[in-house]
Amino acid sequence: MKRCCRFRRRDHRFEADFDGCCGKGGGDPAPNAAEPRVWGGFLSAGSWDPPGVRAEPALPRAALPPAAGSSEGAAAQCGRRGRSSRSSRPSVAGAAAGRGATTPAAAAGMLQVRPGLYLGGAAAAAEPGGLREAGVGAVLTVDAEEPALQAPDLRQLFVPALDEPGTDLLSRLDRCVAFVLQARAEGRGVLVRCHAGVSRSVAVMTAFLMKTEQLSFEKAYENLQTIQPAAKMNEGFEWQLKLYQAMGCEVDTSSAVYKQYRLQKVTEKYPELRNLPQELFAVDPTTVSPGPNDEVLYKCRKCRRSLFRSSSILDHKEGSGPVAFAHKRPAPALPRISGSPAPCTSHFVEPVQWMEPALLGVMDGQLLCPKCNAKLGSFNWYGEQCSCGRWITPAFQIHKNRVDEVKALPALGPPTRRA
Ligand SMILES: [Zn+2]
Ligand SMILES: [Zn+2]
Repeated sequence: MKRCCRFRRRDHRFEADFDGCCGKGGGDPAPNAAEPRVWGGFLSAGSWDPPGVRAEPALPRAALPPAAGSSEGAAAQCGRRGRSSRSSRPSVAGAAAGRGATTPAAAAGMLQVRPGLYLGGAAAAAEPGGLREAGVGAVLTVDAEEPALQAPDLRQLFVPALDEPGTDLLSRLDRCVAFVLQARAEGRGVLVRCHAGVSRSVAVMTAFLMKTEQLSFEKAYENLQTIQPAAKMNEGFEWQLKLYQAMGCEVDTSSAVYKQYRLQKVTEKYPELRNLPQELFAVDPTTVSPGPNDEVLYKCRKCRRSLFRSSSILDHKEGSGPVAFAHKRPAPALPRISGSPAPCTSHFVEPVQWMEPALLGVMDGQLLCPKCNAKLGSFNWYGEQCSCGRWITPAFQIHKNRVDEVKALPALGPPTRRA
């Protein structure tokens, strides 16, 4: 078994819902528990507001100024051109003051990614005069400490983040992209910077290119690497950008992808947690009246107590069936079955409020009906294997034969499940 980059405990093999992860094989978006952990604040996503910055509305794509090399084909072409593309690109700064290292942008330690859009490290914004000369009127800093940039009329966004795989950048990408779009719509040159200019700023810039130029993660990253050959974001950011791509380059906190991500982030920290963050739990369906989006309800088969809604189900791709269990059997007895995964006999769901007392302080256990105590399934923070062979981490598993599906009334419209 090829081990992927993150989060393997016990002997479990984890496979992701998502295609690929760190790109090193396996498809494993679980975080690396062995890495130093940093809480980038995703648990307070939405309430987090950086100092001194007013809210930027997301802009339509049309608001983006036309940029050279903004098609996927052009990006691929840039990839072939290699390093020389940097000095051969049309450049706002370059047009004014020549090419190469003599441009104001280069003199200020910035690399031009697109006209009026720059990448840089700590040195890039050291001199306010350099920013002004290069036409930079907005600076997005992704760093541990807020920079002391003082320039009149300079718009700034500071995103506190360490360059570590555990840092939650994903939850901040929408805000970062909106800031850059807004500044560009105002005709400002924009600098995206971090400390070294190779990981955090590159990750944010990659997200910006993915979103505004409809590039895949790989294409956008590759394009940046032709401009900054030292660009190397950490594997946690790579994984997060792939999730960003899976969400259509817009962070949807109600999506299964994001919920799974949030759960995995909590799992990294779980053994030390005293309390589970409340936003982790889906509202108990017995405490709220059904809304138009509450399409299908799942009830205890024995006592009919409402347990969860279909929007709480974290779908996964079916695993490879019996072959996926081969590691549990002696090799010679391995059945040669292929292409016919066993059906999933469980729903894997996000935690629901009624589960909370059972989850605290233990790594695994049973999930019992809160009303009649019937056994519904089990949970395991390290993950469990579905009957189809797929590992889900962490796992909150409800056996399908213990619950009944109750469809929405026709008046509420056809059942739709948020993917
Ligand atoms: Zn399954
Ligand atoms: Zn029950």
